[in-house]
Amino acid sequence: MPGQEGFTRRQFLSRCAALAMGACCADALGAWAAALPAGPEARRARYWKPLAGGMTRCELCPNGCVRPDGGDGRCRARGNRGGVYRTLTYGRPSVIAVDPVEKCPLNHFQLRGHAFSIATAGCNLSCQYCHNWAFSQVGPQEAPKVYSMTPREVVAKAVENHCDAIAYFYTEPVVFFEYMMDIAALARKSGLKNVMVTAGYISPEPLREILPHLDAVTFGLKGFDEAYYRDYVGGELKHVLRSAEILAQTKRVWWEVVTLLVPSLNDDMAQVARLAKWLRNTAGSEVPLHFTRFRPEYRLKRLPMTPSKTLTLARETAMAQGLKYVYLGNLPGHQGADTVCPRCGRTIVERLGFKVLERRMRGNKCAHCSAVIKGVWL
Ligand code: SF4
Repeated sequence: MPGQEGFTRRQFLSRCAALAMGACCADALGAWAAALPAGPEARRARYWKPLAGGMTRCELCPNGCVRPDGGDGRCRARGNRGGVYRTLTYGRPSVIAVDPVEKCPLNHFQLRGHAFSIATAGCNLSCQYCHNWAFSQVGPQEAPKVYSMTPREVVAKAVENHCDAIAYFYTEPVVFFEYMMDIAALARKSGLKNVMVTAGYISPEPLREILPHLDAVTFGLKGFDEAYYRDYVGGELKHVLRSAEILAQTKRVWWEVVTLLVPSLNDDMAQVARLAKWLRNTAGSEVPLHFTRFRPEYRLKRLPMTPSKTLTLARETAMAQGLKYVYLGNLPGHQGADTVCPRCGRTIVERLGFKVLERRMRGNKCAHCSAVIKGVWL
């Protein structure tokens, strides 16, 4: 426990608060996480098949990695060990943080407190602008930090720190599927919610298996063009759209969609309009869509930040396609972060960054005109 390891709860919370608006706070929490006893490692993975000659084929995601003994998958979080496919990051998180749920981003899914965010090293995509590349584009051996936490310890720490959800966040949780599943099952038994932040690059069967354990999903739809996905994301859009269609059919999981607008790469308004039209036709007009501002990072440092006028235009374009809730992110102080009632046009939730300043709702209704605002409101 933190207190027993010379790291008090007060110190823990103050360090989390200091980092709440920034990047991951693994450093802040590492003092106690690293001190926990070693967890199980290199567990047998799910969703793979043995092939001739000790080879294996992973079927967890559309990459379908075929590997010989000793080979790691493209995500670096799974690998063939002696002809058995294994998860290399089970119980070995690299990022641990306490976050507001708005950071995911989720604007229509309320929690009483914060979310306990967790991620391991590895990713099955290779976004050229990734902010978390130091963890996502490496395996556990090369990650700057690797801690040791069993699922039971993750849930216990979340409860102890007054979090009411676990968020599988920062890197792609698909690659630590087994760890996420085990944490999610225990979290639900403890009355916690489960939030998955994902790019949706997953095969249909595991996606359908995890969904009943989830309460909310932030879904990264990174653009609406196959060439963009191939060249800058490292995947195929068609697989992502298939996952989004499955989510749209799953009525009990709340989901919101996020698209990072990268100058000159995916920010032309024709593409934005196609994305918004497809989303409205697939998921209806009430699924929230977030456009977030690109900041130069990783392999795209040569590009400028997304101009705020581009984001504003994207919002107008998406709303013209019939989407009712279109948000702008990474633009502190911009009104595009607020929730506006689609019936009376009045602002009902005012936000600054990830903070809710004021909410003018009665339950799930606009306080001004009583229109129902779709979402999970307390
Ligand atoms: S989850 Fe990892 S190992 Fe499996 S197919 Fe995808 S990238 Fe390859």
